[in-house]
Amino acid sequence: MKTSLLQRVATALVDHGISDDTRCGRIPDVPPAMAQTVRDILNSEGGAESSDVSCLLHPEHAADQHISLLADLGATGRGAWTLWRGPTLLLVLLPWCTALDDEPCPLFDGHPGKCPPLHPS
Ligand SMILES: [Zn+2]
Ligand SMILES: [Zn+2]
Repeated sequence: MKTSLLQRVATALVDHGISDDTRCGRIPDVPPAMAQTVRDILNSEGGAESSDVSCLLHPEHAADQHISLLADLGATGRGAWTLWRGPTLLLVLLPWCTALDDEPCPLFDGHPGKCPPLHPS
């Protein structure tokens, strides 16, 4: 079976020792109802819940909206992200970003801003 994008991202993070300060890293307060919705989607679509839901954007991202990955929907080629600001969370199911040819981007297709780095610059 093909390695999921999430696994490749996780491996890249470990291999290259990316430090925490290349990411915003803020953690959303996911409401129980949204967490349940994500689990329901995983039950019907397959995939894996994200073990790290910290914000994936650059530390000084301009927009005050954070983006966190809640689940990798496996074979569907999509992920479940939350766009969030303070206590307000929006759940989105979108395909992965393919802007980078030679390395995976941890965000969804059409995300705002540059692709977050997977390697220290
Ligand atoms: Zn953020
Ligand atoms: Zn990207």
